[in-house]
Amino acid sequence: MDFFSVSRMLYGIIWYVWIGEKLDNAGYTARYIGRYAQRPCLSETKIVAYSFEKQTVGFIFKDKISKTFKLVNLSVDDFIGRLIRHIPEKHFRMVRHYGFYSNRVRSELLPKIKSALGIVKESLVFKPIKWRERVLNNFGYDPLLCPECGELMVLKQIVIPAKYGPPKVINIF
Ligand SMILES: [Zn+2]
Repeated sequence: MDFFSVSRMLYGIIWYVWIGEKLDNAGYTARYIGRYAQRPCLSETKIVAYSFEKQTVGFIFKDKISKTFKLVNLSVDDFIGRLIRHIPEKHFRMVRHYGFYSNRVRSELLPKIKSALGIVKESLVFKPIKWRERVLNNFGYDPLLCPECGELMVLKQIVIPAKYGPPKVINIF
C-alpha cells in the first residue's frame, strides 16, 4: 500500500483525540495555565461577558468560514475546558519550524539551499530602482533627482512613521 492510499484511508476515519487527565488540583491547574500566559490561545480582550449568577462566560471569535466575528456564551466549566485543551504538556516542545527552516540553522542553511536551487534573493540595491521606476511612471518625476539642483541623490534610508512609538527606519546601504 503506498503512502497516499494510507493517508486517504486515515482521512476517512473520525479521530477522537485523548487530551489527558481531568485537572482537579487548583494549584497545578493555575501553573498549567500560567505556562500559557505568554501567548494565550484566546486574548483577554475577546472575553466580553461574565455572569456570576448564570456562571457563564461570553467571548467573541472570528469564524474562519464566514470571516465574521461571533459571540459565544459558555458555562464556566465548558469555557475552562475549551481553554485548557490548548495548554501543552510539561516539557512539551512547541516546534514551529523544523529541518532547514528551524531557527537554529535557517540563516546558515537557507541561503545554501536557495543558491543550490538557483533562487537568488532580490538584492537590496534593486529595490530602490523598482521604487524609483514606480514613482517615475505613476507621478512623472524622478524621486532621486534633487528638485533644487537636479543632481542625482543616493537613497540611504527609508523612514516609516509608526502609529505608536518611534518610526521604523530601514537603512539601504
Ligand atoms: Zn540639490
